[in-house]
Parts: sequence; C-alpha cells; structure tokens
Amino acid sequence: MIGDIMNKILNGKELSKIIKQEVKEKILKISDTLKLVVIQVGDLEQSNLYIRNKQKACEEVGIVFELNKMSESIGELELKDQIEKLNSDPSVTSILIQMPLPKHLNSKIVNYIDPNKDVDGLTDINMIKLINKDSGIIACTPKGIMHILNHYKINLDGSDVVVIGRSHLVGRPLSNLLINEDATVTLCHSRTKNLKEHTKKADIIISAVGKSNLIDKDFIKEDSVLIDVGINFIDGKLIGDINYEDCFDKCQSITPVPGGVGPMTVASLLENVLECYYQQKKTV
Ligand code: NAP
Repeated sequence: MIGDIMNKILNGKELSKIIKQEVKEKILKISDTLKLVVIQVGDLEQSNLYIRNKQKACEEVGIVFELNKMSESIGELELKDQIEKLNSDPSVTSILIQMPLPKHLNSKIVNYIDPNKDVDGLTDINMIKLINKDSGIIACTPKGIMHILNHYKINLDGSDVVVIGRSHLVGRPLSNLLINEDATVTLCHSRTKNLKEHTKKADIIISAVGKSNLIDKDFIKEDSVLIDVGINFIDGKLIGDINYEDCFDKCQSITPVPGGVGPMTVASLLENVLECYYQQKKTV
C-alpha cells in the first residue's frame, strides 16, 4: 500500500503510476494496436490542457492517440457522421468526446458512440450496465475513486457515504458503484436543504461540485474519509472543494488536490482503452 503509516494522504498520483505500469505491461502482450481518438469541438483552453494530459498518458503506455478537432459551429448531424465513421473504423479502438460541448450541442450526443468504444463510459448503455453490475465501460472518474477506496482498504460495506454533486460524469455513476459495494449513499446537490446535516454524519464524503472551500472542518465528523474531486483555479492555483489544511487533523484520510482524484481519472481512462479492446474482441 502506498503512503505513510497512517495512510492519511490518499495518494492518487502514486497509485496512478502503478496502474499505468500494469496497463503498459498488458498492452505489450497485445499484438493489435490500441488507438484512442479524442473529438474536441471548439478550442477551450482548459480542454486543450486536459487533452494534452491524456495524449501524454497514452503515449507513455503505448496507446496511439489522435485528436480530431472540429469547428465550434459544427452541427449535430455532422458530428454524428464523424462519430459513425470512427465507429466503423477497425483501427480506432476507443472514442472520447471532450466535454464540455458548445451550448448548441447536447451532451447526449455521446450515445452515437459504439458502447464498446465508449472509453469514457458515458453512453446510456454503459451507465445501465454499471447500475446492473454487468461488464461494461465504467466512467473514468468514479472508477478512479473506487480504485482509491479499494487500494486504501476503506470499508464501504454499511458505511454512510455522502456524495456531493449529481452529474452524469461523476456523482450519479459513483453513487451506483458505491451502492453496489453495499454503502448507504446520500446524494446531495445544489437543492439539498442542509448540506452540513448530511456531511456531519458521513463516514466518507466525496465532493464533486467545483466550489472551493465548500467543505471545512465544521462539515465533517472525526475520522471521516474525504475524497475531493473538485477542480478550482483560485489566483492561478489549483485547489479542490475541501479545505485540505482545515480538515487535515480532524479527518482519518484525505485526497490532495492536485495529486488525488485527477491522476486516477487519467489512469482509469488508460484502463478503459484496454477494456474497450477486450469488449470488442468478445463481440467478433
Ligand atoms: P457539474 O456537472 O457542474 O455538477 C456539479 C454538481 O454540484 C451539480 O450536481 C450541482 O447541483 C452540485 N452543486 C453545485 N453547487 C452546490 C452546492 N453549493 N452544494 C451542493 N451541491 C452543489 O460538474 P461535474 O462535471 O460533476 O464536476 C464537478 C467538479 O469536479 C468540477 O470542479 C470538475 O472540474 C471536477 N472534476 C474533476 C475530475 C477529476 O478528475 N479530478 C473529473 C471530473 C470533474 P445541481 O445538480 O442541483 O445543479
């Protein structure tokens, strides 16, 4: 297990290195080439950064990476055609649409992706498989969080878990994964009446909101486990939703930002490139 004796800091950065190495070794044993195509609509600076990280990670483990950059004004039909071309191209084993999309495009467009190439696990088919514990592609960030919880042997069976944020990307799939591990899950969001009332009782708090300092030590009980998914840039510095310094002494363990959930999302993406390949092999 990675970390200090108490495992106070849940070190996603180090854990991600182990997972990347495992993926690399598995890829070396495969004679086919694995290729991830990322579709980017527009040119958001933040997306450019995330895409560069994905490219670097792919190249490190031997996955061919291709970026299809589309004009911000592309219509749904044209985008659908592009996706379908990639679906039928046997050299493309994984497809990812970089979010967010421009306002005129519905994020449900991901459903045009062949579920066996849906490396982000965001198609309805993969979401339903996740709920039903069927083998499918599991959304990367929730998968990365489950890796952290499993690696650090954090008990989920019967534990009270508060997930804050109900997006399709994080909160919803994550809640289902936790339920499947017998946790008691409370899913909070912007309309939750008294957030603190819920978080104060939680054994584990997972915050995926995007609001710095949303959670401080008054929101947590002694010895709780804190998982911070949030990404906030304050004065050019990356911080999460949880006030790390304030909560550190009171909690049992905590993920840092950066170096917690972020690198695990990328590592899970690489695992999913492999998983897509295996799913495709099953169907031929
Ligand atoms: P999102 O789609 O904007 O969802 C945010 C959620 O937070 C919504 O469910 C919203 O409630 C809820 N919320 C907003 N204000 C709240 C408040 N004051 N109290 C409680 N809940 C509140 O965002 P997302 O895509 O899930 O991402 C969430 C955060 O995680 C962002 O900072 C994002 O950058 C980050 N992220 C990080 C990674 C990583 O790898 N580290 C990956 C993905 C996302 P409503 O539903 O009621 O609006």
